[in-house]
Amino acid sequence: MSNVDERSLLIPVSVLNGAGPKRITALNKLGISTIEDLLTFYPFRYDDLSTKELDEIADQEKATIKGTVASQPVLARFGRKKSRLNFRFLVGQDVLMVTFFNQPYLVSRLETGQEVGVYGKYDVKRQRVTGMKLFTADANDDFTGVYRSSKEIRPNTIKNLVKLAYEQYGELIADIVPDSLRKKYRLESRQQMIHDMHFPASKHAADLARRSAIFEEFFRYQAGLQFMKSKNKHANGEVIAYDNDLLKEFIAKLPFELTKAQKKVVNEICSDMHHSLHMNRLLQGDVGSGKTVVAAIAMYAAVTAGFQCALMAPTEILAEQHAEKLAELFAPLRVNVALLTSSSTSRTAQKKELLSHLADGEIQIVVGTQALIQKDVIFHNLGFVVIDEQHRFGVEQRKILRLKGNDPDVLAMTATPIPRTLAITSYGEMDVSIIDELPKNRKPIKTDWFSKKQVNEAINFLAQQVAVGAQAFVVSPLIGESEMVELQNAQEVYQKMSSLFEPKFKVGLLHGQLKSQEKDQVMQDFKDKKYSILVSTTVVEVGIDIPNATVMLILDADRFGLAQLHQLRGRVGRGSSQSYCILIADPKNDYGKARMETMVQTNDGFLIAQKDLELRGPGEVLGSKQAGLPEFKVGDPVENLNILQIAQQEAHAIINAPDFERKTENAELINYLRRRIVQPAGFD
Ligand code: ADP
Ligand code: MG
Repeated sequence: MSNVDERSLLIPVSVLNGAGPKRITALNKLGISTIEDLLTFYPFRYDDLSTKELDEIADQEKATIKGTVASQPVLARFGRKKSRLNFRFLVGQDVLMVTFFNQPYLVSRLETGQEVGVYGKYDVKRQRVTGMKLFTADANDDFTGVYRSSKEIRPNTIKNLVKLAYEQYGELIADIVPDSLRKKYRLESRQQMIHDMHFPASKHAADLARRSAIFEEFFRYQAGLQFMKSKNKHANGEVIAYDNDLLKEFIAKLPFELTKAQKKVVNEICSDMHHSLHMNRLLQGDVGSGKTVVAAIAMYAAVTAGFQCALMAPTEILAEQHAEKLAELFAPLRVNVALLTSSSTSRTAQKKELLSHLADGEIQIVVGTQALIQKDVIFHNLGFVVIDEQHRFGVEQRKILRLKGNDPDVLAMTATPIPRTLAITSYGEMDVSIIDELPKNRKPIKTDWFSKKQVNEAINFLAQQVAVGAQAFVVSPLIGESEMVELQNAQEVYQKMSSLFEPKFKVGLLHGQLKSQEKDQVMQDFKDKKYSILVSTTVVEVGIDIPNATVMLILDADRFGLAQLHQLRGRVGRGSSQSYCILIADPKNDYGKARMETMVQTNDGFLIAQKDLELRGPGEVLGSKQAGLPEFKVGDPVENLNILQIAQQEAHAIINAPDFERKTENAELINYLRRRIVQPAGFD
């Protein structure tokens, strides 16, 4: 630690008197190693210890009561650790019984006739107080923080160490949030904020400090992400000097007009391509919102600038579908589109030819699966990469594809709407473009919720649709116990549907035990109308276009999460006919009911994602580890969403301002960012 300035908040807590080796170990376990850590180890709760009159206290409320000890305290011990201490307590005209559990040492501090304060829970009817704290002198802070602690260290020890740290090092606390920003949002100085988080004079003071602390926490996190992003961007990416006239012509010739949202994201993407900055953009849009067309426009832009493009999809059937669509769009423009999957290039000669045309640049757009990242795939000049359903690929796979070009621009796409909150926190290092509108010609899917008793009505409805030539999905219940049980279940449903509909209408079965090629085959058969009804577990592929499917019947729908239900529903409603989603469920609790009601009420994936987040919490929605979701100490990204949004905007503006590194008010922020950027652990 010799290179650390002696008077710095970053020195270890061991410099404090009273922080011996045992306590240091205990503090480390709580995540505290430096003075800074200790000063930002905030209380998780505050107790209002102010003294109240008996008639001001509600039943079971906690408060401090002042009075006289009216009987000799009696201590009873049970076993080694448990004890109970009782005494009568004269408060004005009333006599209460006070009980302290497991604080036997108090007995020596109490005597009859003594004036004391007791903080505890007041039981009005029984005139009893369950004591928690005893004040023999007037030493009580009225409003006091309670710390998270452990077996090895008591909350009060922590509090005393914090006090010591503040007294000795408090003067070194400097503002990370720049002055102008603090003025704008009326935030406290960091020194006062830290003081009042630990030692507030009142609830009001604690609330104000908390508000500042939440802002600071979000702000420094966002500033960290923006800083990293700006460093990445300055790394040399390709300038894609596309031909704007050709691009406009292409867009004008599409068989439909782009939605407003599509136009907006096309502009965002194109302006990124134009810069030498490296593009790393996430395109979010509900199923059917028209992401593929947007990707096609961007790819065409790159092609007019003389670059090759690659589109990687997670499955063969999706890759094929994309290749088909793109080939159709690009046919009149003489852009060469190729498909590279393990089955499309199973013949060696064919594969060889394809690879040689990728290497000599004759193929301008290649669509494929992971086959694209094999060693023998070499590009002439890959300038733009699109990754569909990006969460299905690992970081490594995405990186390998990027390395096949000279740091090409990247557009990742996802049909899983991510609530704004999570997008802000976990995708901070990517820019996000959102398509939040469906093409106008689309008929919203009608969703209904039936109880299990009404299942025959639902099946009758399905039969009517099938009778007029439409197709239907039936999703069998999710059991969760094992894939075998799930399979049995799907088979049962399959048999039932077959007995009802065959031989007039064919029924297919899709489940997780099939190999991926077998799954693709079943989907392809369904697409080719070989079946009228497809019984399936949840493995039905996202993004598959089966315009003729108009019914999605989900059995025991309450067993699914909202996001999953919405994804399942998105497999219909892709054609021009009205589509339906029917949920069969007898939910056992309010949470289940709320999910069914949300599904019936809205088709908006972003709204559903936000609702899901509120009902379940962020960890559950994406799995906080997987989502890279930071654990905030004070702020809650759901509850404090508006503070998070403001912090993000401000951090963005400050970091990207041309004079960012020159302004003195940013000095401490810059220190903080530099310190963080060298640590591989990333941002706290
Ligand atoms: P996503 O990939 O977002 O699920 P697609 O790009 O596959 O959506 O688009 C779904 C369908 O909607 C396609 O058939 C596409 O041609 C069509 N489409 C896309 N944009 C529009 C638009 N602006 N107006 C009408 N139809 C559109
Ligand atoms: Mg798609």
